[in-house]
Order: sequence, then C-alpha cells, then structure tokens
Amino acid sequence: MNLEKRKYVKDALNEKDNSKVVVAGWVEKIKSMGNINFINLRDRTGVLQIVSQRFKEINKLTPESVIVASGIMKKGQKKSGEKELLLEDFEVMNKAETPLPIDLVQDTTQIDKRINNRFLDARNPKVNAIFRIRSEIFKAIVDFFSEEGFININTPKITSSGVESGAELFEVKYFNKGAYLSQSPQIYKQMMVAAGFEKVYEIGPVFRAEKSRTVRHLTEFTGVDMEMGFIESEDDVMDVVERMMKYIIRHTTAKCEYELDTLNIELKIPNKIPRIKMKEVKLMLDKCGKKLGEEDDLDSEAEKLIGEIVKEKYNSEFVFVTDYPWSKRPFYHMKPKNNKNSTKSFDLIFNGTEIATGAQREHRYEILKQQGKEKGVNLDSIKGYKDIFRFGCPTHGGVGLGLDRIVQCLLKLDNIRESILFPRDPDRLSP
Ligand code: ATP
Ligand code: MG
Repeated sequence: MNLEKRKYVKDALNEKDNSKVVVAGWVEKIKSMGNINFINLRDRTGVLQIVSQRFKEINKLTPESVIVASGIMKKGQKKSGEKELLLEDFEVMNKAETPLPIDLVQDTTQIDKRINNRFLDARNPKVNAIFRIRSEIFKAIVDFFSEEGFININTPKITSSGVESGAELFEVKYFNKGAYLSQSPQIYKQMMVAAGFEKVYEIGPVFRAEKSRTVRHLTEFTGVDMEMGFIESEDDVMDVVERMMKYIIRHTTAKCEYELDTLNIELKIPNKIPRIKMKEVKLMLDKCGKKLGEEDDLDSEAEKLIGEIVKEKYNSEFVFVTDYPWSKRPFYHMKPKNNKNSTKSFDLIFNGTEIATGAQREHRYEILKQQGKEKGVNLDSIKGYKDIFRFGCPTHGGVGLGLDRIVQCLLKLDNIRESILFPRDPDRLSP
C-alpha cells in the first residue's frame, strides 16, 4: 500500500465525509459484533476506529500488530460525531506475537518489567505523554538560554579528574591510562566564562557513582548546567533560574495540553519564588519538629517538609534555600564578606525535592587557593583549573539542574525512573 498518501489519525479525523484515506499504526483493540469488525488503530497522533464487514482475516489480527489501512472516512455512530474509517483494504506490516510481555491497557505491570520492555511500555499513552513533555521541556530550556544570550557548549565526558569529591567518579580504562566519566562540567563552564563567552550553558550526560537506591537518584542523568560572568551576587544566578522555570512551565502549558490532560496534571506558573536563608529554614523546620544542627545539610525529609511549609506559607511550589554552611559546599563556592562559615550559594527545591544547586564562585586566585587548602584540595592537582583564575577572570556564578528531576517534579512522578527512557542505577545497565 502507498505510504506516501498516509495521513496521521488526527488529520484523517478532520477529513470531509467520503474522503479516501490511508492510515497506518498499531492495532490497539479488535472487537466483533455479529459480522462487523472494529479495530482501534493508534498512531502518534491519536486513535481511529476502523469498521469492516468484509474481511474475515481481521479476526486473526493480534494486539499491537502494525497495519496499513485504506478506506473512506464517514461520520460514526458515536455521540461525539467522531468520524470512523470504512475499511476498503488493509495490509499487515508486522504481526505482533502473543501474549505481550507487559500490560499496556490497564498498566498494572511493575516498573522494572516495564523498563525491561521500554519500547512497548512507551506505547502506553500515559508513558508516551511523559516523554513528549520531556522533549518540550528540553526545547524550552534551549530556547530560553538562547533568548537570554547564553552560548551552548559541549564539554568532554571522559576526563582526567573533576573538582568535586572523587568518591562519585566512575573509573574507565583509557588505553594504558586511568580516566573518569565526567560528574559535572564545572571546570569547563568556568573556563568558558573566562574565555570571554561570558554566558554559557550545556545540556549533557552527568555520571555519578552513587550507590544510592532511591526514587530520585540515577547513576547517569541529564544535567542542565549554566555559568555566567560579571555577576554582582548569586541573586543574579537565581534570577535566571527563576525566569527559566517560569519559561519552562509557560511553554509546556502551551504546547502539551493533550499530554498534560492525559496525565491529569495542571501546571501553575510560579509567582516570585521565595529566597530563604538556611538559618531561617532550620528555624522553620525546628518549629515543625525537625531538628537540624548549624552545620547540617537538608536531608530528603527536611526538603519535603520545607516544601510543605512554603506551600502553606507562601503558596509556592518552589523555594530557594540560600546561604548554605561552608562545611557542606565545595571549595570553589564564594564566602560572603563577613561570614567565614557560610557561602553565597543556593538550592532550588520544587515540591519538596532539590532540583538545582548553584552559587557565586570564588574568582580571586589567592582566596580560592586558601579555600582549597581549608578543604584539603590542592588546586595544582586539578589539571587546568587554577589557570582559569590567573589570566583575567570576571566575577561569575552558575547552577546545575537535573533534567530528569525537573520532569519528575513537574509531572509529580513518584520515581525518577518514570522520567527517563533508559534509567541507569546500581542494579541496571540495560536496555
Ligand atoms: P542530591 O543531594 O539530591 O543527591 P546533589 O546535591 O548531590 O543531589 P548536585 O551535585 O547539586 O547534586 O547536582 C545538581 C543537580 O543535578 C541536582 O540538584 C539534581 O537536580 C541533579 N542530580 C544530582 N544527582 C543526581 C542523581 N544521582 N540523579 C539524578 N539527578 C541528580
Ligand atoms: Mg546539590
């Protein structure tokens, strides 16, 4: 059959009565009533009912087989007046075996088995909707950075070392040397600010050898990283992150009406995102019975709780927690003028989960060297890092977000593995 004339289901449904069309897709359901057969045909745009009285072979079709069908569009029996296709001819492109390894209709299959059969699982309209939305979020981020004058960069994922703790590095064999998978583009984005690009971003893979089996950690995820020069403070970085989150939500709401409906999700564009100092956050948590010491980080329970508190108090799904203790931040975060124990840093928490960490970076070589010493980091041991600060480096700051976490939190998915097609974790290396 001629695929050149193929129409998507959505367009076929808008054809005039009696138009002849060719459609193609997956057999979602087959039903017989007397000597009339019905097929629900699904393609990437929707589902079309096909009606036939002529073809006995239809009874032999199996669910999820791929067919090409031609016929005449007619007003159907449904109350909605939705058109259906009166079948004139059809071809089986590929017959699906039975039974299917997973349940697409009631989606009762557990997540592990679904991921093992991801190509089938993604035919489920709900799963499909997640990844279409993810694609639009990706586009929104690219559009946003581009509109704000950021330059896209791609940095190496095989490296000799990182600036973060070595504990989370995956070692790889690199000919006769040791190398690591990149756990952050930190060095390179700072380099490219100093290179004169001033504002850069990267969306790329990030590898973390974290043996954590949680619903928010992967060993490979998609990082959204940016770095910007000539800032006055970390507030400038938060301003960009805040505009980006609004941009993403606005774009997704406009472009993904059908998908959001499918998932029963209503997005809300945030008002001004509150910025609350860590000290104050700890007081708020304390009042709710969660005690944390001065030097403590927020654990996931604390993040969840502060998420609930700001929703109640500020009617906000987002909160910037600022001024993290120096003991919990890497050596390159800048300290404020009058407090040696704090940093000009922040996390963004969305519905109770961290989605971003950012800061103003220390750009003054002597101070950076001193801060390295305090943390037991020898700047000389990080190839190429110290030179960034020796030959002309403006004030700068940046942030790292996780795309998978953004998708998870935006769509209120209970497991990060729902927001990535092929998750990697300590137990999973395929498909
Ligand atoms: P967490 O405290 O949740 O483990 P982190 O503070 O170690 O995260 P960062 O180094 O701040 O992570 O990374 C920046 C962002 O990248 C995080 O805010 C998060 O959105 C994302 N991210 C970090 N680690 C992971 C991971 N293992 N899986 C998925 N996303 C991650
Ligand atoms: Mg973090």
